Amino acid sequence: MTHTPTFRDHSKSLAFVHRDSENISPSYTRSYPFVMARGRGSEVWDVDGNRYIDFTSGIAVTNTGHCHPAVVQAIKDQADQFLHMSGTDFYYPPQIELAERLNHLAPMSGPTKVFFTNSGAEAIEAAMKLARFYSGRTRFLAFYGAFHGRTYGALSLTASKAIQRRGFAPLVPGVSHAVYPNPFRNPWPGSEPGKAALDYIEKQLFKTAVPPEEVAAIIVEPIQGEGGYIVPPDNFLTGLRRLCDQYGILLVLDEVQSGMGRTGKFFACEHWGIEPDIVCIAKGIASGMPLGAVIARSEVMSWPPGSHASTFGGNPVACAAALATLDLLEGGFNQMAAESGEHLMARLRRMMETYPQIGDVRGKGLMVAADIVTDQETNEPDPALRNRIEEKAFDHGLLLIGCGANCIRFVPPLNIPRSLLDEGLDLFERSLVESID
Ligand code: PLP
Repeated sequence: MTHTPTFRDHSKSLAFVHRDSENISPSYTRSYPFVMARGRGSEVWDVDGNRYIDFTSGIAVTNTGHCHPAVVQAIKDQADQFLHMSGTDFYYPPQIELAERLNHLAPMSGPTKVFFTNSGAEAIEAAMKLARFYSGRTRFLAFYGAFHGRTYGALSLTASKAIQRRGFAPLVPGVSHAVYPNPFRNPWPGSEPGKAALDYIEKQLFKTAVPPEEVAAIIVEPIQGEGGYIVPPDNFLTGLRRLCDQYGILLVLDEVQSGMGRTGKFFACEHWGIEPDIVCIAKGIASGMPLGAVIARSEVMSWPPGSHASTFGGNPVACAAALATLDLLEGGFNQMAAESGEHLMARLRRMMETYPQIGDVRGKGLMVAADIVTDQETNEPDPALRNRIEEKAFDHGLLLIGCGANCIRFVPPLNIPRSLLDEGLDLFERSLVESID
């Protein structure tokens, strides 16, 4: 997407963008030239001094806002002690304390154990290896529209956009995909999508191409993220749990984006009361420090010393940031996300009544998307309009990012003050109006 800013001075930013293009991999997908200088809470400033409201949280990462003082203090305190000692070969308290806290919060009723990584994709890799190791089975079932990351194992599960896979085959063998039930664009018109999706797995896939006794794990996002913030029907995840129990398959939840309070609960799966065997988290866990984790039932996390590890995974500074993040989330940020999310959805739904270009508003907590369409009669996706809105919003001082082919996601920090949320929504509405042909 090319972009010419129209309203504010971006000269320093554009100079950086030029240097970036000369020096940095062209594989990234920036929509507009936001070059960050600093951030506080839900506000950020670029190198030209322009202020923006951040409805992206650095892609659902800075859940406690930019540079929350408690998180920054925890990072400084730990940095004063030591930066690294590799938890793979040594011990240190922040990693152990964080594992205890995560095990306590885990959405499983029995005992659990934690494996630390640096990123979401690495957490998925670890979950795949663990699932194969524990079950002795080889296959995986994932979903169309899923995004689980870009390393080879994770990419083999990812089926979000063809560009993410094109040119990279062969991928990890043994991965099959099923259809994720999308209530707004129901792939089975006339049928209830949750039941249809489950039937497709059990009555088609398991009977033809994917023998269930060979499936190590079903890996699924409780709310599909990059795929378009698709909230499945209520029967879907409970149905997957039932299938997993019936066929001895592990249920792996990818809560990399939906976890850490984003949906108003610690884990999105708590909205449906289901328990995974393995859950993967990253993004919001350490408010912006690189950290990921796999939490598994203790019985499942049974691999021996030497079987899996990562030098930087569970870095002490990142763990300290995560401990401070957990204090904040448990201290009320989850609740704030639930309340602000209701306000956000209500305002977007009111806009839907005025603007036929918003076909659907969906989400939970502060994981919300607006589906941008040509009109509400056909609900034809309008990616070009979505892109124009994003660019216009940037000009007006609001950072937005897309998801799916044509959606805009609203993922501000969980503690965004109501006044900033409303200011941002006003800017969104203005940007929408100015972008309509
Ligand atoms: N899983 C989900 C649901 C994600 O949204 C992402 C990233 O967007 C990943 C995994 C990969 O995480 P990372 O980019 O940290 O590797």
